[in-house]
Amino acid sequence: MSEQSVASGAFARLLLSGALLGGVIHIAFALLFYQGGATTMAWVNVGSVLVYVIAGRLLVAGQVGWALAAMALEIVGHAVLAVRMVGWDSGFHFYLLITIPVLLASGIMRWPAKVGLATLIAGIYVAMDWYWRRAMPLHPLDADTLRHLHQFNLVSTITVLGGLTVVYVQLIRDAEKRLHRMATTDHLTGLMNRRSLVDALEREQARRLRKPHPMTVILVDIDHFKLLNDTYGHAVGDWALQAVAGVLKKGVREMDFVARWGGEEFLIVLPFADGAQANPVAERLRETIRTIEHPGRLPLQLGATLGVAEVGTEEDVEQAIQRADAALYQGKHQGRNRVVIAEAALI
Ligand code: GH3
Ligand code: MG
Ligand code: MG
Repeated sequence: MSEQSVASGAFARLLLSGALLGGVIHIAFALLFYQGGATTMAWVNVGSVLVYVIAGRLLVAGQVGWALAAMALEIVGHAVLAVRMVGWDSGFHFYLLITIPVLLASGIMRWPAKVGLATLIAGIYVAMDWYWRRAMPLHPLDADTLRHLHQFNLVSTITVLGGLTVVYVQLIRDAEKRLHRMATTDHLTGLMNRRSLVDALEREQARRLRKPHPMTVILVDIDHFKLLNDTYGHAVGDWALQAVAGVLKKGVREMDFVARWGGEEFLIVLPFADGAQANPVAERLRETIRTIEHPGRLPLQLGATLGVAEVGTEEDVEQAIQRADAALYQGKHQGRNRVVIAEAALI
């Protein structure tokens, strides 16, 4: 999923909560007007509820542009109509303020179009303020009702603006989390990717410098993987990568790191484990990989070669990984499906 679609998905969900809120507010208005005998205004509000229902359906169908247009038109039209009917003091014009930030935050139009529309709405607001602030409404209300209506509209505008901001911030956080997950995990296996393991290793190394503790790395490479791909196809290859990843992840402690290091290579980091503790872990992982069976009963036998290197007290982790790689290479030459312990670090 691209960054753009994460943002536009978030915007669509923002509009959806707006449509829901708008629908509920207008149902309340319809009931209030109906009870107060203002049947025309009650019907206007029923029409508004319908617009929000349509906008909701458009949003679910992915028609964000049309939904935004319907909602903006509803708010502007309704505000203009209500101010003309019951007067400026009713406070129906406040709702226009909601449309401007939402419009500008939308990612579906280009900036000139967004700014143009926002300016148009601002222009309508200013014009209404100029011409209708002291104009006689078509259907004047009594002073008490007007005051209550004004307060209600003010409070609900503030609530909607606040609510939209909270939802928007939440959506941005979710999108950020999703992007972070996408950037740090391997899409196929769900393991950490190489970059995030390198970051984790840097943090671990900093901790070791302050308070030394043993640490071991294990490099795992699936045997004859190319042959598997060539014989059974790429999809079976992908399944094998996922199966091996699952075995590795399940076979170590919660605090250990397991990453997809390259194509069919994995790197495991065991903090607080020396070589003597890590070797049996590697051996057990090798054995478990041998027992993996294909769910479709394909007659295949997976195997892996593992290189184990304890990180020297003053050694760079990269150097230890290189020693593990050399051990692994040796294991491949000795016939694969084995664990090879690297030469000890010089430092
Ligand atoms: P060895 O036993 O010496 O390790 O041989 P090998 O065939 O496992 O190693 P080699 O490096 O020759 O081949 C690795 C293959 O892994 C080649 C590449 O096409 C395949 N590969 C890399 N990434 C993926 C992937 O994401 N999915 C699949 N299906 N194959 C992949
Ligand atoms: Mg390889
Ligand atoms: Mg291989």
